[in-house]
Amino acid sequence: AELLEMREISKVYGNGVYANQRISFSIRKGEIHALVGENGAGKSTLMKILFGLEKPDHGELILEGETQNFQSPQDAMAKGIGMVHQHFMLVESFSVRENIALGYEPVKNGFIDKKQANEKVLELSKKFNMKINPDSIVRELPVGLKQKVEILKALYRGAKILILDEPTAVLTPQETTELFTQLKHLKDQGFTVIFITHKLREVKEISDRISVMRSGKMITTVNTVDVSEAE
Ligand code: ADP
Ligand code: ADP
Repeated sequence: AELLEMREISKVYGNGVYANQRISFSIRKGEIHALVGENGAGKSTLMKILFGLEKPDHGELILEGETQNFQSPQDAMAKGIGMVHQHFMLVESFSVRENIALGYEPVKNGFIDKKQANEKVLELSKKFNMKINPDSIVRELPVGLKQKVEILKALYRGAKILILDEPTAVLTPQETTELFTQLKHLKDQGFTVIFITHKLREVKEISDRISVMRSGKMITTVNTVDVSEAE
């Protein structure tokens, strides 16, 4: 069964740009799904709709059989959807722990329980094999680690479906390899990953399926096995 379905989604921006034109698209539980296409194809728009950052003009979003009407990212997060932005949404002068827990900190006797937040961050970083010091200041971290902070932040908030917007664009080849290992690890634990890219070569090695967009339309969805066999 499909975990997530987007049916006939359309989005026109105020300037008249038809960013998404009757897009139908589905995601299976536990898959790594790559969304590819040229710049301007409408990928970010589709993912923003899925994360509650944009509202579609038409169409339906169905999660585990239930129609959703996300008004904000908070609504999407409450349903287990998390997003890792291309330009991270982190507070640079804050620590890793503060960034991850901010707004979601455990409270004890009416006070934020920093000790418990720290433990939860450490526990998550261990569980997902992302070595990171909760006390380091985000500004001082290399880009690959900042991305890990964003991923942990989404997991901390209970994300089961992770959307990554061009996650490799800012990474070195070594960081890319590390990210891919991490995504496979998440997949093995039952998480679902959707990631935007325009590097087809890169996605073939880790994705289960690829969906291709062009000029606001969904062209096709293929299994990566079929892609490899066609070569
Ligand atoms: P992609 O992620 O594939 O590069 P986008 O979804 O970002 O594509 O953009 C699709 C089209 O919509 C492009 O023509 C882009 O310029 C336009 N667009 C994106 N965001 C906005 C916006 N906020 N307002 C107006 N046009 C937008
Ligand atoms: P990113 O994909 O990393 O968000 P972009 O440069 O595509 O970066 O977009 C930055 C912001 O500008 C986004 O919020 C996007 O929706 C908006 N945007 C993109 N294209 C247009 C456009 N043609 N007109 C107005 N806003 C746009």
